[in-house]
Amino acid sequence: MIIALLAGICLYVIYRKLVEIKQQYRHIDDETVKDYMTGRLRKRTKEYHRTIQHLGLCEACQQKMIDYDDAYISSKSNIEDHLIDREND
Ligand SMILES: [Zn+2]
Repeated sequence: MIIALLAGICLYVIYRKLVEIKQQYRHIDDETVKDYMTGRLRKRTKEYHRTIQHLGLCEACQQKMIDYDDAYISSKSNIEDHLIDREND
């Protein structure tokens, strides 16, 4: 009985981790990129952390950020500045 319970808990933990990893690989929508670039995406939220993690590994979304930056912000700003988590500032 205890072994079945432990196995169930283990499966649940593995399932949660897989869901988390899957979400990390989901592309960021345009609205979230805009919110992130303009500082409207609230820090210390799951979405903020997911955005940073995803931008660190997805070139397509990095390109979205560059395109948005070129179109609306400034072509002079350094794109790498946006990839640094300044949560502790
Ligand atoms: Zn992406």
